[in-house]
Order: sequence, then C-alpha cells, then structure tokens
Amino acid sequence: MGIPTVPKPIAFFDRDGTLIEDQCYHFDLSRLAWMPGAFEALRHLRAAGWRSVVVTNQSAVARGYSSEAEVERFNHEMVKEAAQTGAFIDVIEYCPYMAEAPVLRYRRHNHPDRKPNPGMILKHLPADPKTRSRSFLIGDKRSDIRAVTAAGITGHLYTPGDDLMRSVRQAIAQVSAKSDDG
Ligand SMILES: [Mg+2]
Repeated sequence: MGIPTVPKPIAFFDRDGTLIEDQCYHFDLSRLAWMPGAFEALRHLRAAGWRSVVVTNQSAVARGYSSEAEVERFNHEMVKEAAQTGAFIDVIEYCPYMAEAPVLRYRRHNHPDRKPNPGMILKHLPADPKTRSRSFLIGDKRSDIRAVTAAGITGHLYTPGDDLMRSVRQAIAQVSAKSDDG
C-alpha cells in the first residue's frame, strides 16, 4: 500500500574540493567549510525534484589516518549542518579502500567503489532511462569525471571556490537539453 514512488533523478556530488573544502585527511569538524553556493545548490535541487547523493573516496581510512567511525561522524555532521539551512543531502557514500593501503583490511586492488570506478554511482542510479539521463555528477577531479562517464551519465568538472549554484544550473541545463533531444 501507499503512494507509488515517482523515480527522481540524482545529483551526485564529490565531497572534498566540491561540496566542501578539501579536508586533506583531517576530520576536525571545526575545519568543515562549505563551498560558495553549496547550500543554495542543495536547496534548489530538492525543490526542482532531484535527490542529492555524495560519493567520496576516503582513503584516509586505508592510510590509517582515521577510522570509518570518524568519517561517518564527519559526514553526519555535514548532513546536519546543511539541514539547518534547509539544504538536504539524501545519502553520503564513501569508499575507504585503496590499492597499497597500509591498513591491510582496506587494501583492495581496483575496488569497484573507488573512483574512477563507478560503483558508488551505479548503486543509486535510477533504473528508468529518462530519469537516469537527467542525473549528473559534479566533481573537481578527472577521476570524478571518469567515474561518471563509466556510469553513462553527465559529468561536470567543478573548480574549487567557484559558485556551486552556477555549476548546478549548468548541469541541469545540460541534462535537460539532452532529454529534450530524446
Ligand atoms: Mg574532490
């Protein structure tokens, strides 16, 4: 029973260097600094019918600089801080694995979730082709763009410090033009 769920397109965001300033393996919550326009972008996406999903490599865990619990606490705090401004993050996915990790339990060669692999993106992509084609990712690294290209959706390269709202508007225009073609 219940109301049928309408599938929503996904706005994927990289975390460090995109939604927030690069933490450089620090998990000190007092250093959490959002990029210009981040809250506005998240609010706009929710109002326009997108879900926002963060996909982030956190090799700090594999390197032994932090625990998964610390990463999760930091992520939770991000969701909370954003919510206080009316900005909504639906999910934060992180990948703690890397090849050559000093912490052996996180040593994985070519883990499917570690960007540039698309695992974290594929997990949340809508099955419906039209909804899927309106999904996009914004990230500051070539590895973000490689991951999103592998997932078959639109990628937008972001320069840290730019107005994130502007990037979101551009990405929405891009996927809208694409779905109008079809
Ligand atoms: Mg980044």
